[in-house]
Amino acid sequence: MTHHNKAQNNQQHDANDLLDITAAVIPEKGADFEFQSLKIRPPQGDEVLVKIVATGMCHTDLSARDQYYPVPLPVVLGHEGAGIVQAIGDDVKDLEVGDHVILTYGYCGHCDQCYAGRQPYCAEFFERNFGGSDVDGSHVISDDDHKAMNDHFFSQSSFATLAISRENNAIKVPKEAPIELLGPLGCGIQTGAGGVINALQVTPGSSFVTWGAGSVGLSGLLAAKLCGAATIIAVDVVDSRLELAKELGATHVINSKDKDAVETVKDITGGGANFALESTGVPEILTQGIAALGSIGKIAVVGAPPLETPAEFDVNDLLINGKSIIGNVEGDIAPKKFVTDLVDLYLKGDFPFDKLVKYYDFDDINQAVKDSEDGTTLKPILKIADPES
Ligand code: NAD
Repeated sequence: MTHHNKAQNNQQHDANDLLDITAAVIPEKGADFEFQSLKIRPPQGDEVLVKIVATGMCHTDLSARDQYYPVPLPVVLGHEGAGIVQAIGDDVKDLEVGDHVILTYGYCGHCDQCYAGRQPYCAEFFERNFGGSDVDGSHVISDDDHKAMNDHFFSQSSFATLAISRENNAIKVPKEAPIELLGPLGCGIQTGAGGVINALQVTPGSSFVTWGAGSVGLSGLLAAKLCGAATIIAVDVVDSRLELAKELGATHVINSKDKDAVETVKDITGGGANFALESTGVPEILTQGIAALGSIGKIAVVGAPPLETPAEFDVNDLLINGKSIIGNVEGDIAPKKFVTDLVDLYLKGDFPFDKLVKYYDFDDINQAVKDSEDGTTLKPILKIADPES
């Protein structure tokens, strides 16, 4: 179907087809979430309609709110949705009504990087995840007056009671897994874990530093432990996060407000770390992370500052010591297989990411934002519907 035909199809739904939803909307830059009663159209083609049971909140939702990336406003954000398939489009092959799914980011499935299993580098990644509409400019959410709402955030917009995603970004999970917990695997958790397992390929016996002990950084820490890293260091400025890092397997923690983190990492590792993950999004911390690598050390960059933010490093330090800086989106890994593997590891007790989360009622979304921003809560999960209802 051409984009043009698809846009026309969108208009074929009359008002009777539209379903009522409640969504949390960001009305303008930096504002609080506002609840609105809106409409969503039924799924078509390769789309699935999902009842959102729960959704994680990721720092990237707040970066979109603050326009680090120019997502059109007003918008329904949310990109760590998990729930139950309610309806499917005619072209959906592998999912059926009643399936439990985790929603991940959108990708086209037919560009060079998608064919190569590198979906985070899809040629259409930015427009499918940050464009505020489908790739053809159409929307699935509208208000009572049929005015389109910006949506399709990460091909889902999960801060809502119902969401539309595509079959390729809805990952089926076993019904015995706790669906209300699993949404964050679709973004923050797979980014940290994939960054370590796939991009860095952390080796047994090595040293690893997570710069930032938020949900991405601590997921990286859990993965480094799985990979057999012998020295695991967490750096942050929030003591409670560093305490949790210790509980999860950090051998050392550094509060960089109190200590020179570069020198301390070098002391602990005997000259510099083998591997590091930067998830603070603060360019000065990336500079420190590069400086604290040992020879042939590698740092994966996942923390996301506003577009066009530069960072400094000493060229000769990089060159002489053979260091690598690796950009990393969503763990650089094919999501359907990797997220399913993380669910299995969780169910076996080998990937206890549940220790990072705190549940909130959907109504308390602004409290979840506040607690996330002041460091009280690491990974808020908003409960939206009872899976049994
Ligand atoms: P978070 O806010 O939970 O974690 C960031 C951590 O960095 C916090 O614990 C904070 O205390 C710490 N920090 C901030 N400033 C610091 C400083 N100066 N020194 C030391 N520590 C500092 O956020 P998160 O949800 O874990 O996300 C982390 C980053 O990753 C965000 O920028 C987010 O947008 C980005 N992200 C990127 C991808 C990707 O695909 N690359 C995916 C998900 C999230």
